[in-house]
Amino acid sequence: MSWPSNQPPQTGLSADDIARLNDKFAKSDAALGIEVAADFTPFEQRNDMFTRAFWDDDVRSDDTLGFFKSYRMKFATRRGEGFAQKDFALRNAAWAVSDIISSRGDAEGKREGFQAALDYDTPVARDQVTVDDPGAEAAEIKRLAKLFGADLVGITEVDERWHYSARVDTRDFSSVPNDLPEGISHVIVMGHAMDPDLVDTYPSALAGASTGLEYSHEAAIVIQLSTYIRNLGYEAVASMNDTALVIPYAVKAGLGEYGRNQMVITPEFGPRVRFSKIFTNLPLKPDVPEPLGIKQYCEICTRCAEACPPRALPFGEPEMASHNRSMLGGVKKWSADCEKCFGYWAKLKTDCAICMRVCPFNRRYDGWGDRLFRKLATGPWRKLALAWEERRGLPERLKAKDWWARLRG
Ligand code: SF4
Ligand code: SF4
Repeated sequence: MSWPSNQPPQTGLSADDIARLNDKFAKSDAALGIEVAADFTPFEQRNDMFTRAFWDDDVRSDDTLGFFKSYRMKFATRRGEGFAQKDFALRNAAWAVSDIISSRGDAEGKREGFQAALDYDTPVARDQVTVDDPGAEAAEIKRLAKLFGADLVGITEVDERWHYSARVDTRDFSSVPNDLPEGISHVIVMGHAMDPDLVDTYPSALAGASTGLEYSHEAAIVIQLSTYIRNLGYEAVASMNDTALVIPYAVKAGLGEYGRNQMVITPEFGPRVRFSKIFTNLPLKPDVPEPLGIKQYCEICTRCAEACPPRALPFGEPEMASHNRSMLGGVKKWSADCEKCFGYWAKLKTDCAICMRVCPFNRRYDGWGDRLFRKLATGPWRKLALAWEERRGLPERLKAKDWWARLRG
């Protein structure tokens, strides 16, 4: 199949809408270092690499088909260390709950959590609980999100610049409207920390279990928290990678800063976090993010770019330009060449996160040395932290066989 298989629906924002939103969020954008061009256009989901792999002949190959088949063990496993049948088996088991939930809507062309928001079983309650204090309500929602299993929680206002201008119908990969219920005002953004030992084995099929585990956890958490809110009488749309770009929302909710490796780097877990979100009209007080000093460290560090096998990450300054259709243009930022990155994943038959593993912020933060690094790296002593890191050298990859040996005790 090659695009277009239909005309994209005209549901995206107009230039006037973008001007209004750029104006509305000018102060918070400036505080967070977000620069959005006047001619910015929201991203269309058909252009993300995973979606393109199904319709774009420039991307589709035996490698990409093998990548997807490997999640069902419909291919011959590589015998290399970290790529044996057991490694793929654990990765696929970690994904199982997310897979079951995301395939509920297959017949309607909705891959929930990825190409459509998660469906709900609970209607919005007829009677609405009164919320007198949005600050107290926000604090309570954050505690409940943690009760359900989230590691980080922040709240921000809805900002449609980051919503897909159209989503895709997975039956034929045509574009369809990406609508939310009327009146949605806030987004609850949650962070889900990945297992550090599994992350230490990137690149490997085994390491992919750290990704799958958090998708499975977050699917359950967004369903549970959105069900709670719907029972209070308010709209709540549970969302994972679907509906909107989660990275700007995580930054706007104060959970971390955007790094050269294209990930949100958090003070608590570095880049070792996945994010989910809930769109709601529950009255909530949004967070006001503080500068964290992480982006300034990225300005003097290029470790992730050096370690990336296909050289997909940039060494230079953040830029507005987009170099292929899968890159979001019109926002000043570091951008990976997603085509090179996904091409490498397809060859491996699993996800790669070497750029997460080697990042100096990928630490446990349970010892004074890690905390001292963070203190130095995010303040005026960042060059000292960089020199310390250079002396420490690239962290060694944990061999998958050693991970399995530790498991056996
Ligand atoms: S490796 Fe260095 S440049 Fe890359 S994201 Fe981490 S701190 Fe930033
Ligand atoms: S995930 Fe791997 S291939 Fe992609 S940018 Fe990071 S290191 Fe490079």
